[in-house]
Amino acid sequence: MMNQVQFDGIKKMFVKLSGDEFYKKKFEGIDLLAIQSQEDFESLPFTDKSDLRAAYPLGLQAVPDSEIVRIHSSSGTTGTPVIIPYTRQDVTDWAEMFKRCYETAGLTNSDRVHITPGYGLWTAGIGFQAGAELLGAMVIPMGPGNTDKQIKMMRDLRSTVLCATSSYALLLAEEITKRKVKDKIHLTKGIIGSERWGEKMRHRIANELGVQLYDIYGLTEIYGPGIAMSCDQECGMHYWDDYLYFEIIDQKTGKQVPYGEIGELVITTLRKEGAPLIRYRTHDLTRFMPGKCACGLKYPRIDTLIGRTDDMIKVKGTNIFPAQIDEILREVEGSSSEYQVIIDHLNGKDIMTLFFEIELEADKETVEQDVKHHCKAKIGITVIPKAVSIGELPRSEKKSTRIFDNRY
Ligand code: ZN
Repeated sequence: MMNQVQFDGIKKMFVKLSGDEFYKKKFEGIDLLAIQSQEDFESLPFTDKSDLRAAYPLGLQAVPDSEIVRIHSSSGTTGTPVIIPYTRQDVTDWAEMFKRCYETAGLTNSDRVHITPGYGLWTAGIGFQAGAELLGAMVIPMGPGNTDKQIKMMRDLRSTVLCATSSYALLLAEEITKRKVKDKIHLTKGIIGSERWGEKMRHRIANELGVQLYDIYGLTEIYGPGIAMSCDQECGMHYWDDYLYFEIIDQKTGKQVPYGEIGELVITTLRKEGAPLIRYRTHDLTRFMPGKCACGLKYPRIDTLIGRTDDMIKVKGTNIFPAQIDEILREVEGSSSEYQVIIDHLNGKDIMTLFFEIELEADKETVEQDVKHHCKAKIGITVIPKAVSIGELPRSEKKSTRIFDNRY
């Protein structure tokens, strides 16, 4: 439910946007100033990434040039990138939210924050840095790559907090184990962002690095990482409802799902100046977490990301999410967390091949049969299981692509 403060924020934004070119076109025929209830609000059309792309380069900018201090751009894997302009206040607000994330994870100004996400057009690195500086911690602005140097700096500077994507954290954890330098590493916490990851991978990273892990959420279109964060309780992520209004919708009908059920996260910014967004479809699947968190924070929670709406694959008429594959691999003894799915269409039939890594001592055939059995039982699909050794599947410093659909 939208609270009064949020609704007031939205109404104020509508007044500001009434002369804005992007929104005039977007909401043609709709009087934003006539929006008087949550119901009215929910009748507004969604904003999608394609709207933002169509506004390239600076069509989203809602304030004069003199008020813009920076831009960021989302990694356009396909087609035109999206450019998001920020005002000074936007940059300040983002750092405030990020500081709140660090505090939620128990960081203090005595921490040394080792930042491996990239810098540049991409929002990641600089967001991690600004929040840590505001907290008063020591920033070690590494950026990605160069594993030797990462480990050297981690040892010599006694980094206490690692910020990374899950796949890069796993790569570093594996290197630290391989080089037998774990006793020279002083990490106590890992802050893992930007992609959905399985429980098994979480345990491996946590165990090999000897840290407690926290999830951080965000997207360039809405500031960047730092808009939601898990706490010590590890039960979903708190989000900052004084800056953002979250909805969870049925991706097909566009209607709100019943409270607590899984759907697509839709975000409206309450304070953003440079590029405010109304009902922006994230394509991330999650749910509201009911009840109060045991940590005592008043901020509401969403669940750890379950997947992306566009990750959902339909095989033989069944919807499959990567999270289900994570879950299965977690349950099967001897299998590891890394996997790749290949889907082909041969002789009129969909064929799903699941490559996954197995532990050194595991028996290949037994684990393969187990995985096959679990897939049939849990998702109702017969897969071709292919076990490979640990380290054979690619690790990446960017978002991993684990599903290859060769049917189209
Ligand atoms: Zn909590």
